[in-house]
Amino acid sequence: MSAPTRPDSPVRLEALIGALKGRGILTEDELTARQAQTDCASPEIGARMVARAWLDPEWRRLLLSDGSAAAEAMGVSMAGAPPLGVLEDMPRRHHLVVCTLCSCYPRAVLGYPPHWYKSFAYRARAVRDPRGVLAEWGTVLPKGVEVRVVDSTADYRWMVLPLRPEGTDGWSEDRLAAIVTRDALVGVALPQVTPRTVAV
Ligand code: FE
Repeated sequence: MSAPTRPDSPVRLEALIGALKGRGILTEDELTARQAQTDCASPEIGARMVARAWLDPEWRRLLLSDGSAAAEAMGVSMAGAPPLGVLEDMPRRHHLVVCTLCSCYPRAVLGYPPHWYKSFAYRARAVRDPRGVLAEWGTVLPKGVEVRVVDSTADYRWMVLPLRPEGTDGWSEDRLAAIVTRDALVGVALPQVTPRTVAV
């Protein structure tokens, strides 16, 4: 007996989009606008938000209390996007973001999620063994630092406000933003002050 034929992903996607349009849940214009918005987004937006929070206490308060309002204040349209929450790392608390169900990610401020973020392995292991996952990124936290794994969902998207690294006193916003990577914004890595960034 031959195996049943299964439609491949593009076919399923088209069928899903067709069903959503047919029920009046989604229009072609909305789909195009959302894709265009994500195409324009990149982790540089999130990095800028973090760098500003390291420098400006008032901005930091806004970012932590209402991430969507902070994004809007930076010119990012959050229309139709789920609320953005920002997790504040502390000396004894580190946050790691995962979507255990699928691939929920703050696309408006980070762009498209990397492949590994969507993988079953990351989604499962981030919960089961977060320190093991972090170690694979070379992220070893000091003893006594709690790791909080936070589930990004269709209702709420999360990004991390990492701790500002030592050795960055007097740095400009641009220089600080340059050390905040995509991976740091979901908590698998920490901002690093490397010889290259020091020399900027
Ligand atoms: Fe998801």
